[in-house]
Amino acid sequence: MSGDARTVVEFDAVSRTYPGGVAAVRDVSLRIERGELVAIVGPSGSGKSSMLNLMGSLDHPSAGRVLVDGHDVASLSDREVSALRATRIGFVFQQFHLAVGVPVLDSVADGLLYAGTPMRRRRAKASAALERVGLSHRLHHLPYQLSGGERQRVAVARAVVGGPSVLLADEPTGNLDSTSGAAVLTLLRELNAAGTTVVVITHDREIAAELPRRIEIRDGRLVADVAQNPTIGARR
Ligand code: ADP
Ligand code: MG
Repeated sequence: MSGDARTVVEFDAVSRTYPGGVAAVRDVSLRIERGELVAIVGPSGSGKSSMLNLMGSLDHPSAGRVLVDGHDVASLSDREVSALRATRIGFVFQQFHLAVGVPVLDSVADGLLYAGTPMRRRRAKASAALERVGLSHRLHHLPYQLSGGERQRVAVARAVVGGPSVLLADEPTGNLDSTSGAAVLTLLRELNAAGTTVVVITHDREIAAELPRRIEIRDGRLVADVAQNPTIGARR
């Protein structure tokens, strides 16, 4: 373990160039501290998902250093990276693919498989996580019986069931109507208020403007990183 224990994600002059030459992330340095709620905003193609993949150890930088919870991702074995990802990082994507025919409770409980938690305990924790996202009444529903907003809540429950150091959400409201989207954002705020570090990627400037810190990306470069004082309750 190196670095400041308060720092959850650190980018040190990070670049990512894909085969073929697209420089998706260019020389980005930043730190995200424990307990923060951060928006990463930029237009489509600006490199947001590439940055999130690096933060989540799904990808390696072409140059520079990425530290997650003080661990330099490049210095870990594949096995260690898998462990880091499974135990410290929760992902929520724009579109969550819940396994067809698997009840909600089990989908969330499966988020703990890696940790080797016994089944009963997995179910108990999954049930608690689903309660946190307001879905206690849907434990035994199947994915097709849920609305898009509810499915995204299941995705959030699954991402937080293991108590990750950081929740990384890539356009989590992108496929939702504005009401369900606002509800998911409120949920992320609540999780953050209860202590989870949250990074939300969005191309929506209004969403970004409502969060306490806004990191702006353009053409792979960090062009702004500002603390904001969002008007609580401001809604579209
Ligand atoms: P955003 O999430 O902001 O829309 P991305 O990070 O997905 O942006 O993409 C940034 C740039 O990198 C885009 O030009 C995209 O086409 C390119 N890109 C993304 N992923 C890959 C990949 N796996 N291989 C090659 N180019 C990619
Ligand atoms: Mg993207």
